[in-house]
Amino acid sequence: MREFSSAPLLWLGLILAFACIPIVPCIPAFWITLWVYIGIYSLVAIGLVLLTGVGGMTSFGQAAFVGFGAYTSAVLTSRYGWSPWATLPAVVLTAGVSASLLGLVTVRLSGHFLPLGTIAWSISIFYLFGNVEELGRFDGISGLPAFDLFGVSLASADRVFYLVWFCVLLAIVVSSNLLDSRMGRAIRALRGGSQAAESFGVKTAYAKLTVFVYAALLAGVAGWLYAHVQRAVSPSPFGVHAGIEFLLMAVLGGSGYVLGGVLGATIVTILKDQLQSVLPKLIGSDGNFETIVFGILMVVILQVARQGLWPMFARFLPQPKPQQIHKSAMALPRRPMPDKGRLILSVEAARMQFGGLVAVNDVSFKVNAGEIVGLIGPNGAGKSTTFNLVTGVLRPTAGSIRFMDSQIVGKLPREVAALGMARTFQHVKLAAQMSVLENVALGAHLRGGRGTLSAMLRLDRSEEASLLREAARQLERVGLIEHMHKPAASLALGQQRIAEIARALCLDPCLLLLDEPAAGLRFAEKQQLAVLLAQLRAEGMTILLVEHDMDFVMKLTNHLVVLDFGTKIAEGAPDVVARNPAVLEAYLGGVE
Ligand code: ADP
Ligand code: MG
Repeated sequence: MREFSSAPLLWLGLILAFACIPIVPCIPAFWITLWVYIGIYSLVAIGLVLLTGVGGMTSFGQAAFVGFGAYTSAVLTSRYGWSPWATLPAVVLTAGVSASLLGLVTVRLSGHFLPLGTIAWSISIFYLFGNVEELGRFDGISGLPAFDLFGVSLASADRVFYLVWFCVLLAIVVSSNLLDSRMGRAIRALRGGSQAAESFGVKTAYAKLTVFVYAALLAGVAGWLYAHVQRAVSPSPFGVHAGIEFLLMAVLGGSGYVLGGVLGATIVTILKDQLQSVLPKLIGSDGNFETIVFGILMVVILQVARQGLWPMFARFLPQPKPQQIHKSAMALPRRPMPDKGRLILSVEAARMQFGGLVAVNDVSFKVNAGEIVGLIGPNGAGKSTTFNLVTGVLRPTAGSIRFMDSQIVGKLPREVAALGMARTFQHVKLAAQMSVLENVALGAHLRGGRGTLSAMLRLDRSEEASLLREAARQLERVGLIEHMHKPAASLALGQQRIAEIARALCLDPCLLLLDEPAAGLRFAEKQQLAVLLAQLRAEGMTILLVEHDMDFVMKLTNHLVVLDFGTKIAEGAPDVVARNPAVLEAYLGGVE
C-alpha cells in the first residue's frame, strides 16, 4: 500500500517547517506544550490505526499499555535511580510481554466480544495501578526525572518536542513500511474475516497478535515519554475513559491511514483543550463536558465518514504513485508438477454432518493430475461443503481425504495450501479496499518468507519485488492486468471471481479448486474463462470445478461427479453422465 507519495522534497519541507514550531518567537509556550502531547498521543493513535482501522480489531484498552510504559519507567527511575533512557528496553519488554499475554486471550475473541474484552482488562489494570502500594495507589508517583541529552536537560517543552516528534516520525516510517509488505498484506486482509488469508497460508492468529503487540509497543513508548514529560504518573490518565479518547483519535483521523492517526490526535487534543475552557463557561458549571461532545462526534463520524478525515485532507497532497512492477525482479521458484495421470486427490467415504443434516454422505471420488474434474449437482447438494472438507476448512465427520500422499483430515487450511492446493470462494472473498494487485499478491504469501521486522526495516524489497511481479504475471495471464491498481471492490463481480483465480494461481498450486467461477459472468466472459481453464490444463494444472452452468461443464471437463442431497448419484465422462436418468431426475425433475 502506498499511503503517501514519495515526494522527498515536499516531506522534508513539511518536516522542517514543523520543526520550527518551538523556535518561532510568536508561538506561545502553551501551544508548544500542546504539540508535545499531540505527539505522544499520535504514537498511541498510530498503533490503533493499525490495530483497529487496518486489522479490524477494536480496542478500548490502549490507554492501559500507555500506563504500563509510564509506570515501568516511573518505578525504575524513582525507586532504583535509573536514567529515563535506560528504562526504554524495560518499557518495551513490559508492554510487549503484557500485550502478548493479553493478546493471546483477547485476539481470539470475535465480533463484539473483542472490544468488550479490551474494556474489561483495561478496567482491571486501572484498578491495579490504583491499588498497589508500590505504585503509589491513586496518588501515583511524582518527582520523576526529565530526559536529558548529552548533559542538556529536555525538561522544557521546546526541547522535549524534538524527542517526541522524532519518535512519531520513526513510528510513521516503520508503520508505513510494515503495511507495504507481505506481512502488511496479511494484516490488512484480516479485516474481511480470516478465511481467505488462512487458505493462502497466513497464520491469521499470529498476524493479529503481531499488530496487537506492535500497537501496544507504540502505546508503551508513548507512556514512557509521558512519564518524563509530565514528571509524574497517576492512574487516571490510563483508564477506559482515555482508551475511548484514543480510539476516537484513530477513528476520526482515518482508521486505516497512518497519518490519519496523527491528524486524529491533533484534532482531538486541540478540541479537548478548547472545549475544556469554553464549555464550562457556556454551561455555567464545572464538568468534563467535552466527553459528551466526543461521544456525539464518534457516532457522527461512524455514520458519515467511515474512512475518517484523512482522505479529505490527503486530497491536497500529491497522490501516491501506484506500486511499480519490476520486470527484472527474480522469478519465484516453482514447485514440481506431478506427472500427468498420477492420482493426486482421493476422497474416500467422506461424510459431513451438521447436527442431523447429512450435507456430504459418504462421497468418494478421485482426481488425476492434468484433468479438469467437475463437481455438479443442484443447489444444496453439498458441493461447497465437499470443497471445505478437501481444503481443510471443515473436518469430516468420517472418511479419508488424501492429497499428494498426505492425509488432509485434521490439517488446517494453511497446511493444505502449503501442499499445493489453492481455491476460490463461491462468495468472493477479496479485501475490498486493497488493490487488485495486492489481493492477488496475498496468494503468493507462502512463496515468501520475510516477516514483520524485515518489513519494518525495509530489508524485504527484493523478495517483495518478486512477489508483486508474480502477482502481475498472474493478472496478465487471466486478463486483468489493466485493473491491477484499482481497489478490488471496484471490479464487477465476474472480474472479482477471475481475480480470485489469479490469487489462487499465485500460490503455484498443483490442484486448483474453483467454486462456481462462471457465476455472474457474461457469455463472452464465460468463453474466455473456459479458454483460460483449458490452457491451464494444457500447462499441466489439475482443476476441480464446482459449476452450475451445464454447458460450461460439459465442454470443459474430463470427468464429472454428480451430487444430490449430499450423495454421489453418478460419475463418469461428461457425455455419459448427461444421459444418466438419475442425473436428469435430479437436475430436471425427470423431464428430458
Ligand atoms: P452446494 O454448494 O452444493 O449448493 P452446500 O455444500 O453449500 O451446497 O450445502 C449443503 C447443505 O449443507 C445445505 O443444506 C446447507 O444448508 C448445509 N450446510 C452447509 N454448511 C453448513 C453449516 N456450516 N452448518 C449447517 N448446515 C450447513
Ligand atoms: Mg455452493
